[in-house]
Amino acid sequence: NSFLTRLRLTEPSLKSFLHVSDSLLRQAQELDDKINRNEELGPLAGVLVGVKDNICTSDMPSTGGSRVLDGYRPPFDATAVRKIKEQGGIIVGKTNLDEFGMGSTTEASAYQVTANPWDVSRVPGGSSGGSAAAVSARQCMVSLGSDTGGSVRQPASFCGVVGLKPTYGRVSRFGLMAYASSLDVIGCFGSSVADAGILLHAISGHDRLDATSSKQEVPDFTSLISSINFSESKPLKGLRVGLIRETIDEGVDHGVTTVIRGAASHLEELGCSVSEVSLPSFSLGLPSYYILASSESSSNLSRYDGVRTMFPITAADELNSLYGDSRAKGFGNEVKMRILMGTYALSAGYYDAYYKRAQQVRTIIRKSFKTALDEHDILISPASPSAAYKIGEKKNDPLAMYAGDIMTVNVNLAGLPALVLPCGFVEGGSAGLPVGLQMIGAAFDEGKLLKVGHIFE
Ligand code: GLN
Repeated sequence: NSFLTRLRLTEPSLKSFLHVSDSLLRQAQELDDKINRNEELGPLAGVLVGVKDNICTSDMPSTGGSRVLDGYRPPFDATAVRKIKEQGGIIVGKTNLDEFGMGSTTEASAYQVTANPWDVSRVPGGSSGGSAAAVSARQCMVSLGSDTGGSVRQPASFCGVVGLKPTYGRVSRFGLMAYASSLDVIGCFGSSVADAGILLHAISGHDRLDATSSKQEVPDFTSLISSINFSESKPLKGLRVGLIRETIDEGVDHGVTTVIRGAASHLEELGCSVSEVSLPSFSLGLPSYYILASSESSSNLSRYDGVRTMFPITAADELNSLYGDSRAKGFGNEVKMRILMGTYALSAGYYDAYYKRAQQVRTIIRKSFKTALDEHDILISPASPSAAYKIGEKKNDPLAMYAGDIMTVNVNLAGLPALVLPCGFVEGGSAGLPVGLQMIGAAFDEGKLLKVGHIFE
């Protein structure tokens, strides 16, 4: 009841949800009945979870933020959603996003613009802006997002919450609407590192419905967090931290750099040795990412043809115009731009110059992270070069918006896990604007990130 009240009070100004479940109180009652009958409860019993609307749910609409899927109700749950339900979690509703995850502000949703709870004239970040705002405003306890190039980490930073991008393959992508399949992962938001870790534990593991999901064993992230001994004065003694040189100073807001340097000093106080490390290929991440992500999306989005997804076009007299009309009316401008870019990069005359080259750059980036992580336990950087900016500020300047993804895209190209957590404020709004610290770990080493993050906060 208290969460519903909060939702009612905050939702008119935030607009984080595209759909709210109408059975929340009934589900809570069922839980109560179970308690009265002394039945065993799952580890997520009663936990209120928001789910990004590009993740399929069988009992609620799933639009991906697109008109092309208006009214679509999948006949199945995504594996991550199924696991949450099986463990007693309650899905509060479906959160707003940039259409199919393409964007960094949530302004590219076909339905509504979500506001940042710290200052409602600002964007919550994106594309999982609804999930980040919902946790930030305590409309739900934790939430699921997806991260193809930063869509969990950047909104976590903008909204002052914890965002966790798992290693590629750690969490099944079954039921996640594909944007760029070689980069997409489902990630977690929480108001603490422990909360994000508990949610990650609930959704991780191999799934035969996703051929790219990993068979790697899932450590017990929950007990790992609760076993930390806080009585030591230097609990992180011996931990080697590399501050990525290319992510501080140039092109980064001065306030953000100051906060990140402060966070590095805090890690030193906790016993870490912090040194700067150079990743010379870092700046190649953006062009490589936007070529690869657009190329994969142009292929993935070809399924929305107006036939299988039944976009209601009235007067299509032949098949090609059914396809054409559905896609012209169903997709927004950002999505159309990505499809055009991707189709261009994949076309016969340009494939070698763009797609192939971007793949080669991806290999170089992967190797440079490997080298840096051989010498360091974790790498740190800002999660974004700035704090949350004003709604509309970058709407007509896509290149400026893409440039803001510089801190996060490399991690997806390398397939690595990363945790973003609030570490300070810069001036702005009425109470200051949060800044997030990004910690990057070796593949499948989420446990270390959670441990360091939990001690840090
Ligand atoms: N902003 C990036 C993009 O638009 C990342 C989005 C994401 O991670 N889904 O591609």
